[in-house]
Amino acid sequence: MKKSTPRRQFILQSGALLGAGLLANPFSGWASPIQKSWTVGEIMDLFISQVPKAPFAQTVDTIKIGSRDTVVTGIVTTMFPSIAIIKKAVELKANLIIPHEPTFYSGQDETDYLQNDPVFRGKYDLLAKHQLTIWRNHDYVHRMQDDGVRIGVVEELGWKDYYSPGSPILQIPSTNLKAVIDHIKTRMQVPAMRYVGDLNQSVSKVLLLPGAVGGKPQITRIQEHRPDVLICGESNEWETPEYVKTANELGMKLSMVEIGHSASEEGGSEFVKNWLQIHVPGVPVYHIPSGNSLSVY
Ligand SMILES: [Zn+2]
Repeated sequence: MKKSTPRRQFILQSGALLGAGLLANPFSGWASPIQKSWTVGEIMDLFISQVPKAPFAQTVDTIKIGSRDTVVTGIVTTMFPSIAIIKKAVELKANLIIPHEPTFYSGQDETDYLQNDPVFRGKYDLLAKHQLTIWRNHDYVHRMQDDGVRIGVVEELGWKDYYSPGSPILQIPSTNLKAVIDHIKTRMQVPAMRYVGDLNQSVSKVLLLPGAVGGKPQITRIQEHRPDVLICGESNEWETPEYVKTANELGMKLSMVEIGHSASEEGGSEFVKNWLQIHVPGVPVYHIPSGNSLSVY
């Protein structure tokens, strides 16, 4: 199960899985040296055009700062646009950041209550000073013909042989919970993870739910699929972990692993980077993992 492919190589291989929900790029056939320049809006519209039933009337995927009309000099994809990521983008002369998650600390990126907050101002003013644009891509990448984040994560875990498009269930070669955790640690460069269950428990049926889909959706999926283990990004301690603990107390075979939100979906930012490299030629694109804000000690 454990493959030795390092993360960098994974970047090169990911193109193979980019078929999900793609249409031909009208510009990809241009072999002339005249490169088309791209605005933020054109890139957004092209991505959105690949998503069934898009654009959505309700979405968190809005521009958080900057403008649709900005001509893009380079793009950074990431999970969270931290100060480190912003500085890196400036260094790379990339004026568009496409994060998967909020910029300003809440689902809708509400900023009214933060206007005089020194933390908010520090970040906002830095973005404004460098004339960066941030477009969140969360709903659209998740709702491609097959979830682009899940495809990226499966690829990062080296589990694409065990993946059926559209399904959160992976049937991996039989192993135990400890080995699964070690595998994730290595592949995703996560120093430690929290789990519920017995490290010696046998595992082959994996329910993979990156990010934080919520307690009830996690438990509903467990009911639906009866997996050996739920692998997720995070969960409220009083919800799914308690449910899994109860299952163990009753002698049932079930465990869960929390990778951490950021690492659990970072493969999705790699997916978006690869997509952009194919469909938005001539614009440099970088994926920079933003890491977990919480350290372990
Ligand atoms: Zn997500």
